[in-house]
Amino acid sequence: MLRLTDIILPLNHSETDLEEAILAKLNIPKTELQSFEMFKRGYDARNNNNIQLIYTLDCRIANENDLLAKFANDQHVRPTPDMRYKFVAQAPSEVTDRPVVVGLGPCGLFAALILAQMGFKPIVLERGKAVRERTKDTFGFWRKKPLNPESNVQFGEGGAGTFSDGKLYSQVKDRKFYGRKVLKEFVDAGAPEEIMYVSKPHIGTFKLVNMVEKMREQIISLGGEIRFSTRVEKLDIAGDTIQGLHLNNDEYLACKQVILAVGHSARDTFQALYDQGVYIEAKPFSVGFRIEHEQSMIDQCRFGENAGNPILGAADYKLVHHCHNGRTVYSFCMCPGGTVVAAASEPGRVVTNGMSQYSRHERNANSAIVVGITPEQDYPDHPLAGIDLQRSLEELAFKVGGENYHAPAQLIGDFLKGQSSAELGEVKPSYTPGITLTDLRKVVPDFVSEAIQEAIPAFNRQIKGFAKHDGLLTGVETRTSSPICIKRGKGYESVNIKGLYPAGEGAGYAGGIWSAGIDGIRVAEAVALAHSQATPLN
Ligand code: FAD
Repeated sequence: MLRLTDIILPLNHSETDLEEAILAKLNIPKTELQSFEMFKRGYDARNNNNIQLIYTLDCRIANENDLLAKFANDQHVRPTPDMRYKFVAQAPSEVTDRPVVVGLGPCGLFAALILAQMGFKPIVLERGKAVRERTKDTFGFWRKKPLNPESNVQFGEGGAGTFSDGKLYSQVKDRKFYGRKVLKEFVDAGAPEEIMYVSKPHIGTFKLVNMVEKMREQIISLGGEIRFSTRVEKLDIAGDTIQGLHLNNDEYLACKQVILAVGHSARDTFQALYDQGVYIEAKPFSVGFRIEHEQSMIDQCRFGENAGNPILGAADYKLVHHCHNGRTVYSFCMCPGGTVVAAASEPGRVVTNGMSQYSRHERNANSAIVVGITPEQDYPDHPLAGIDLQRSLEELAFKVGGENYHAPAQLIGDFLKGQSSAELGEVKPSYTPGITLTDLRKVVPDFVSEAIQEAIPAFNRQIKGFAKHDGLLTGVETRTSSPICIKRGKGYESVNIKGLYPAGEGAGYAGGIWSAGIDGIRVAEAVALAHSQATPLN
């Protein structure tokens, strides 16, 4: 097959235009084009009155080698690479020393799936509940039921991204095409086919719930085992080598290989690992607020008269501003047509995040507007000091919000003027259980407020209306990424504990659903190749 890149057509082109564009590009008659399929479709909306679609197409053609020779100097005509996933090892039918995966977020899910597909029959330990029960607890908390610290937005089957927009893009380098494997498994589990080719795929919350269940079924059908409400409390280490895991309810599980995919909110687990001498470093993350505007305003600004076109869907944005105080403010985890959600996992703390359904049809757009912070500058004293900082901000937000899990919030205009808000405008808050209007300066350090105060007018120059008076800020956003890195060395093992494989976002090796899934595959391969019974393939 030949891969043609940068085939550009107007937004409202007809179905036959694609074929004609291929024929024109290659200068061949119709009879020579046997078939073609879309590999990627993106768009260029810089001029919103003239939005262009940009295609990458895989074409089956009679005389491919002749065409490759003819277009040897054209980087937009190349052989289609083989992007199929290839397993690296195979287990025997009787596996002793089953690998253990801790955490069933996207990283643990893909690690377990790949190990199961290679025949290693992994054991998965997940502190939270199965996804349906977890959904009841999470949505219950949003409707004013008590927070369950073991079953919430952060903890439970599917991990942190289950109740999310389900955006599936990242900037990770992926030379082995693991990302395709993640997307393919998601499609097989019920994700829309289009995630394979649109440039910014998303899935949305309710589809994710069903997909996670299907993937769990596959792991079990291949001999894997999944234990919910099972929390790893401590490692059993002899010398520098893992021997087993101490679980809640005084259980003990002997094992030689552990993939630790516990996410960025497993603060008690990080403390236990640190106390046991597992090498951990503090790492940068970001803090700030969620911002909400009407989605229609974002659509209008980004797509002009093309707003509402189904190919484009609800518009997103990505904004960055470098401030005079040396800080960088950026938008993060933008959720078009979504809601701001209560993302706490610990009692007495308030944290915001965002989610959408697949349709992205809610009234508001939201994103995190956050300021980058670093251990060197902001929490230098201890590898876990970033967690202390997160906790202190979340506690302040809880207090200022009224100590009932309402989130502190402020109108953008009032925030820019430095005055407390007393009344909402047109933009209605989507956060439940509720908000308390206040002055958000009370919940973040001064440099964070100052940086965001400078950035919002700058963002307004890119998105007209971004600084509108009655847009809404809600706080506090602290779980942007892991505040620590559990360092790994050669073969993806911890630098000082043999048999321990830190993975995913919590360990500092992923940021988002897709990259966490990719990291899960990488680490599963390393575990398989290090397993004493593995037969390497290839
Ligand atoms: P996690 O998903 O955090 O999974 C870790 C799992 O480990 C959890 O299920 C937890 O219960 C379990 N665990 C923790 N400690 C233990 C223990 N001691 N024993 C046993 N189990 C344990 N990313 C995107 O790419 N797109 C989005 O649209 C998006 N939206 C988001 C919306 C929300 C509301 C949130 C909270 C996150 C969102 N993210 C999004 C981020 C994304 O969810 C994470 O990057 C991703 O889930 C990280 O995957 P992970 O497997 O490394 O960790």
